[in-house]
Amino acid sequence: MLSLEELIMEISKKSEYSEDEIKKMIEEKQDELSGLVSEEGAAYIIARELGLTLLEEQARNLKARDVVPGMFSVDLNCKIAKITDIRTFERNGTQGTVQNVLLGDETGIIRLSIWNDEIERFHEFCIKEGDTVKITKMLSKEDNLGNAELRLGKRGKIEKIKDLGINLPVSARAVSFSTAVQEKTINNLKAGDRVRIKGRIIQIFKRKPYYEVCEKCEGKVEKMNDKWLCKSCGETNPKFALLLSGIIDDGYGNIRTIMFKENAERVLGKTGDDIKKLIEKSKDPLTIYDSSDVLGKHLSLRGSVKENDFSGNIEFIANEVEEIDSEIRSHEMIGEIEKINKIM
Ligand SMILES: [Zn+2]
Repeated sequence: MLSLEELIMEISKKSEYSEDEIKKMIEEKQDELSGLVSEEGAAYIIARELGLTLLEEQARNLKARDVVPGMFSVDLNCKIAKITDIRTFERNGTQGTVQNVLLGDETGIIRLSIWNDEIERFHEFCIKEGDTVKITKMLSKEDNLGNAELRLGKRGKIEKIKDLGINLPVSARAVSFSTAVQEKTINNLKAGDRVRIKGRIIQIFKRKPYYEVCEKCEGKVEKMNDKWLCKSCGETNPKFALLLSGIIDDGYGNIRTIMFKENAERVLGKTGDDIKKLIEKSKDPLTIYDSSDVLGKHLSLRGSVKENDFSGNIEFIANEVEEIDSEIRSHEMIGEIEKINKIM
């Protein structure tokens, strides 16, 4: 449990209020509740009223990737990625309407499917794309692809809360139902493919884990006489972009894979700044791999297959990388293997 000082500091850091203002709010809250709560208790209530998630609550909070089909009360802080238009359809002679909302956090995206009468209820929440929201008491069902999908149910609610700085997976920013990429198994990949693969990291190449990019435009930089130059911005103090390469295996085959920037950061759980700090303390940047728990991670990767000029082998250049729930994936793999065994 956080001390009162820590609570005040954290609330101040995450809201626009100064520490003194928060101390005053705590006093007022205690008065309002006739002194029935401690200062700490009042601080927690204020944090909740401001829509803040405190450190220790975050640990307990569900993340998008934790949502599986069949849950009865899903509570989640997330960001709205997309709200589709209302679609009308006819089934067995009756008209129906449906609207989809894509929402999620840094661990993934889920679809909230809203049907018929629920649509009006949803609109009462006055939510728009880009909002940070708290959803409570939703249900999760299995969609026709076997993924979890949220439903409002009778008790489900959405409310807008303060921006928590949630970064959606890269794919969500450009999400569109019509541009699904074909998924292939690794044994079927060929140079030129633009596809999705799913597999686990079985090996990491412990090579230089970063490259310098322009501080302003994140473009390529070159070192000339001890100065870093960007073609568009001129002299720059370069940022470090992460680079991660390793081998992905999906049970059918494996392929050397390269990930860059935020994709590498997400998988490695480290940032360019972490590397900068290591180098500033004159530590070997390769130690970044030591404290990281990458091997065995299950990933869904969209990208392109290229032939390596040097080795002639194919490689996967990942543009989007998301971690997928390992338990679900292993069930899927077991299912696939069972199917193959039956055919053979
Ligand atoms: Zn630049």
